[in-house]
Amino acid sequence: MIYKKIIKDDIPAIGQGCMGIGGYLSKDTSQDNISIEALRQGIELGMTFIDTAEVYGDGHSEELVAEAIDGIRDHVFIATKVSPENLSYDNVIKSVKNSLKRLKTDYIDLYQIHWPNPKIRLSETMQAMEQLVDEGKIRYIGVSNFSLNYLKEAEKNLSENSIVSIQIEYNLIDRTIEDTILPYCEKKDIKVIAYSPLNQGRTLNDKEKIKKLEIISEKYNKTMAQITLNWLISHTPVIAIPKAINIDHINDNALAADFNLSEKDFRELGNTFNQKIIYIPTDRIRIATGNRLVYQTIEDAIENKLGFVPSPEDLACHIIKEDILKPVRVTKNTDITDKYDYNLIEGRIRYWAWVIAYNGKRSIPAICL
Ligand code: NAP
Repeated sequence: MIYKKIIKDDIPAIGQGCMGIGGYLSKDTSQDNISIEALRQGIELGMTFIDTAEVYGDGHSEELVAEAIDGIRDHVFIATKVSPENLSYDNVIKSVKNSLKRLKTDYIDLYQIHWPNPKIRLSETMQAMEQLVDEGKIRYIGVSNFSLNYLKEAEKNLSENSIVSIQIEYNLIDRTIEDTILPYCEKKDIKVIAYSPLNQGRTLNDKEKIKKLEIISEKYNKTMAQITLNWLISHTPVIAIPKAINIDHINDNALAADFNLSEKDFRELGNTFNQKIIYIPTDRIRIATGNRLVYQTIEDAIENKLGFVPSPEDLACHIIKEDILKPVRVTKNTDITDKYDYNLIEGRIRYWAWVIAYNGKRSIPAICL
């Protein structure tokens, strides 16, 4: 394992993500035993950095982490997150209390703001965070899904502490942070915690890219997942947190840091997968694909009956303020008689947030897979 430093702590460069462990937005107990087993195996193999959130499985993910770390609390580095609707001073204090209870611990190593909430002043949230550090309830403060400007604003709102990390999507496909957050964090020694490092386990359609990954994997006698993770953590500030419940995957991920990609292969991988961002008029995208719940109209998105957090409207406020959006993902529609040119694969909240922010008049940034 390779380690990266957060102030006084040496953190493994490959950790364990817990989204979906214990359920997604609601509690799911059907895989409790194998989840605990998977986490324990990962810890045993050195992936002692565990990332969870109060929202995962409606708190059940934190409960499973508690089971997995029973008796070994001091050997693990626990990161959890406060949800955007809980960013007022009182609610941050309440959230941490509940997380500590579910995690069966008296301190959280890294407490992260899960998403920005433009309706609550950052100064108020950060005041609560610093109070929690003073009380020893949390050790370090981190943010997640913040733009570079918002990260800088968060830093300005701390007086005694610093932001030690930003958790954000980063993988071979989504390279949005490379010109902004990544160089800034490298300069300021802020860790970039790469979420969805394996692109959520999705396989790519692009045969040429897959071929390149296969060739490099064979050369190093490693799996494609190991090559991908190694490429990520080869960036100085980056720690990757793959989620895995399958024991073979756990074993695989734990050995993803024990080799070095050559400079040439590192560059070649980066160049091969670098996907250009395109800008598409929002009415050219079919939003209802697959069986995920999506809003069909702007009115429904504003009403947010499904209770997405952040809501499309809240995210729209953030987009207007920051003038930035992580690209949505689309595929090209091959049916030329269809009135849509693209199908939305990922980013159903971001899509509506963008439509609300610019009244449907501005093309949306997208990655076409
Ligand atoms: P991910 O880690 O990129 O992918 C997880 C998927 O990859 C699972 O289906 C897993 O299968 C599979 N997998 C894991 N290791 C593998 C391997 N060695 N070979 C082949 N497949 C493998 O996706 P993610 O869960 O979205 O991201 C990871 C973590 O980042 C989350 O768990 C969460 O902690 C964090 N996250 C944070 C945010 C945020 O807003 N801050 C958003 C998303 C994610 P099995 O489970 O079957 O093993």
